Amino acid sequence: MNQLSLTSTVTLANGVKMPKIGLGVFKVEKEDELLTAVNAAIETGYRSIDTASIYGNEEWVGKAIRQSGLKREELFITSKVWNADQGYEETLQAFNTSMVKMGLDFLELYLIHWPVEGKYADTWRALEQLYWEGKIKAIGVSNFQVHHLEELLKTAEIKPMINQIELHPKLSQKEICSFAARHDMQIEAWAPLMQGGLFENEVLNGLAKKHGKSIAQIILRWHLQNDIIIIPKSTKPYRIKENADLFGFELSAEDISLIDSLNEDLRVGPDPNHFDF
Ligand code: NAD
Repeated sequence: MNQLSLTSTVTLANGVKMPKIGLGVFKVEKEDELLTAVNAAIETGYRSIDTASIYGNEEWVGKAIRQSGLKREELFITSKVWNADQGYEETLQAFNTSMVKMGLDFLELYLIHWPVEGKYADTWRALEQLYWEGKIKAIGVSNFQVHHLEELLKTAEIKPMINQIELHPKLSQKEICSFAARHDMQIEAWAPLMQGGLFENEVLNGLAKKHGKSIAQIILRWHLQNDIIIIPKSTKPYRIKENADLFGFELSAEDISLIDSLNEDLRVGPDPNHFDF
């Protein structure tokens, strides 16, 4: 575990290597804020950025990538097809729009943002098509429950390589994680810090004191030791650095089970079985 570093990657089912840590940019709604955040992340050593068409900031992500001076192949860029754009033709179109906005000609990862009933099988066919054309290096889903995955696997020619779901100590998602492990599907946590909702927690505070780390670092280290990819969001350079400083210490098995015991199946985001957008 201690040989983990900010540049550590997970090898996805098709052999593509994905960084274990990335920067999330949900709700970053100002250009200068986004450019500062991505720049700070890249300087810190992050190479993975998670955006989505619905975040409205793909254009700035593209600009930040160009400003970074890094070679395209050094970066790992994720975007997602929004719900209103689902369906086969619509998704091909939405992907093109995202590429034009970002000024890119391929993506490392493209996800179905939410499992829109009646649409996601066709959306998936479009992702497969784009994958075969080499325009996306890996394809996946987000917010899929086990029953959505089972349904998708009936028609999919390629299994999703990633499922990006809400996951944090209050929502440990054990059922989806064990399904994913059986299907060689990597789990990626969104809201890995429960969107800031865990910083008063006594147990986490105790562990933070014990290890001389912040609560955020304890939570993020817990994810990494559970083999979960993380994309914590912050626009503040000092927090972006803090969220990547997760090495040189290790949680014990007892620490991990203590954090595991905080699970309450509690969401801060919408329920994928009952969303209306
Ligand atoms: P998060 O758990 O990453 O929490 C972010 C918030 O925590 C920030 O606004 C900040 O206030 C606080 N924070 C961050 N680092 C901190 C630190 N070191 N100390 C104290 N406070 C800190 O929540 P998120 O942004 O919802 O999730 C991360 C990323 O996941 C998003 O930016 C986005 O890229 C992705 N996401 C995906 C979906 C989806 O449906 N697929 C939904 C939500 C988010």
